[in-house]
Amino acid sequence: MKALITGGAGFIGSHLAERLACDSHDVVVVDDLSTGRFENIAELVKAGKVEFVRDSVRNSETMHILIQRCEVVYHLAAAVGVQLIVDRPVHTIETNIHGTEVVLETANKFGRKVLIASTSEVYGKSEKVPFKEDDDTVLGSTRFSRWSYACSKAIDEFLALAYHDQYGLDVVIARLFNTIGPRQTGQYGMVVPRFIQQALRNEPITIYGTGKQSRCFCYVGDVVEALIGLMDSNATSGGVFNVGSTEEVTIEQLADRVIELTKSKSEKRFVPYEQAYGKAIDDMLRRLPSISKIKAAIEWESNRSLEETLGSMFKDM
Ligand code: UDP
Repeated sequence: MKALITGGAGFIGSHLAERLACDSHDVVVVDDLSTGRFENIAELVKAGKVEFVRDSVRNSETMHILIQRCEVVYHLAAAVGVQLIVDRPVHTIETNIHGTEVVLETANKFGRKVLIASTSEVYGKSEKVPFKEDDDTVLGSTRFSRWSYACSKAIDEFLALAYHDQYGLDVVIARLFNTIGPRQTGQYGMVVPRFIQQALRNEPITIYGTGKQSRCFCYVGDVVEALIGLMDSNATSGGVFNVGSTEEVTIEQLADRVIELTKSKSEKRFVPYEQAYGKAIDDMLRRLPSISKIKAAIEWESNRSLEETLGSMFKDM
């Protein structure tokens, strides 16, 4: 099977490329390297296991050529990371909405199955945990640019489902919760690689807000299994599926675990959101997925504990 991965030089995309290539699939990666890094797939490209095209998903001519040549499309290219979203809101909205428009329109032309990587941000600040796929989205004011990301990904979902309903396009949506693992960078705000780096340098661990907010961090290898399972199943078309861990941890507990694991001398420093992001942002207190839908569809659940994943990341840095 020949698979196109948009955003395949990014953190999750490069793990997906590696896994598909190991399973002897032909893999083409398209990435503009805006946040992705060529080093993430350099070995695979050198070994002739992955073909790399440096371009934007917004270039419809390129996408036309690539999607015609492939049987399935994993659409992971997006502007992600709270810091990036807050710093570059125009880029975020345009990349996420226009990129997905191009992918869906072209996949529909050639009848290719598409997996759209969406996000748990779509649930917004809903407090009804665990989040189920059919729950309402509760977004904040348009004055907070953070919500433009959630809104842009919600539009992507609407568009994908519209292509499915109106044209019968084979499409599946994966709502990814916090994903972590080797090769993840803290550059765009992601908390785990930031904490590990701070701990390894014995610098203060920067906990935003009270540290009482919690997240569930899923190992990237497990997420990749879910993406492949959703793509390969005939029963997932037109569906939305949560993909995430159900092991919940507060951000302060996370800081404690990282300090312990790295035997760091770092102190915990509590930083107000305004100071952290340069402006006020809405944060979610809890973000816990219900994974019963994906479990029923493809028998998937995350197996690796946070402890194990932190260990593999720490050794990689
Ligand atoms: N966070 C933190 N310190 C950091 C980076 C992030 O305390 O240096 C917090 C952030 O405010 C959020 C949580 O960690 O409550 C997870 O942040 P991340 O950006 O990784 O993912 P999010 O779940 O917000 O998309």
